[in-house]
Amino acid sequence: MSDHTKMIRAGRKEPGMQGAVNPPVHRASTLLFERAEDLYGTAPDRHYGTQGMVVHDALREAFCQLEQASSVVLTHSGLSACTLPLLSVCSAGDHILVSDNIYGPTRKFCDEHLIRFGVKTEYFNPRVGDRIAEQIKPETRAIFMESPGSLTMELTDIPAIVALAKANNIWTLVDNTWAAGWFFKPLLFGVDFSIQAATKYPCGHADVLMGTIATKSAKATKLLKSYDRASGNFVAPDDAWLILRGMRTMGTRLERQQQSALQVANWLQKHACIAQVLHPALPSHPDHMLWKRDFTGASGLFSLVLQPVCEQKVLAFLNALQLFGLGFSWGGFESLAIHCDPQTVRTCDSWQAQGPLIRLSIGLEDPDDLIADLEQALSQLDK
Ligand SMILES: *Cc1c(COP(=O)(O)O)cnc(C)c1O
Repeated sequence: MSDHTKMIRAGRKEPGMQGAVNPPVHRASTLLFERAEDLYGTAPDRHYGTQGMVVHDALREAFCQLEQASSVVLTHSGLSACTLPLLSVCSAGDHILVSDNIYGPTRKFCDEHLIRFGVKTEYFNPRVGDRIAEQIKPETRAIFMESPGSLTMELTDIPAIVALAKANNIWTLVDNTWAAGWFFKPLLFGVDFSIQAATKYPCGHADVLMGTIATKSAKATKLLKSYDRASGNFVAPDDAWLILRGMRTMGTRLERQQQSALQVANWLQKHACIAQVLHPALPSHPDHMLWKRDFTGASGLFSLVLQPVCEQKVLAFLNALQLFGLGFSWGGFESLAIHCDPQTVRTCDSWQAQGPLIRLSIGLEDPDDLIADLEQALSQLDK
């Protein structure tokens, strides 16, 4: 069955639905037992609200199908889905390798907090390929990748790195938010932890925060679940319900966003003010062949490099946009734009751009309207 069909059917055979199409929202901390004998037993398998109710089961089931996982842990934000597996696998004295294009707050967590627990982070060039072998130490515990990175769109050769990691007994983690589990399935490539900010495409409406961590191997699942339980992680049932609702239409939204983003990217490529369009599905992208080999499509997030201009003109361009909102996050039904300078945080000297970087998240508006909006706003740069 295709993912479109799977996402329509997932989680709808849970007990207790009483014929409803969607699972109910149960608000529960205490769960009552019929018999005192069961209070400390193993049956029933649900003992307390933190384990989640029917709606959580349904959502985990949907993500299991999407990521082809055997288990999924839900977390209260995408960022917590990045930090939880690191805390699950790392111990004092460990060393981890993190891609230099990683989501900024994940980087901050590693540099300012993992270090307090004696875990050292070293960054690698996302395009390093199997030369990452030179950075592997006896105490390297995990390799954390993000492909493509959500600002600069550089891709990583995940299969090459997974092969080396496996040979050295190192855990691999991938932040899979860009592909949304739809266009790339890390677990099928041997990755141990596939992470998503479900805040983005699964939610699709810019109004819920959630993260997911998908695992397949029994060993990774056991470590993650143990830490998940012990740390008190939990997501609200209403939020779980909203994300599941979003997933029913995610495939349709993604198809449309993929098409619209490509149309906008192709138009931008011909514009005189643009130095480079960074979209993995364009043949001009430096990692296009990797994308073609490993991915089945592209989402609606990409970046562009403007011809060198002063900051004031960049701000004038952004302020002139009418249909693009200015704001962080992405994956919602509405288009967004931000400017950013990845050079300020990166440490590997792996990123250089000719001019200012703009990131666009293409929503569900008509792409012709979005192009017209970009055209009038770009005219600010010539003024
Ligand atoms: C947004 C994002 C996150 C964090 O998700 P939140 O739900 O906003 O905490 C993590 N990784 C990537 C690549 C993201 O874009």
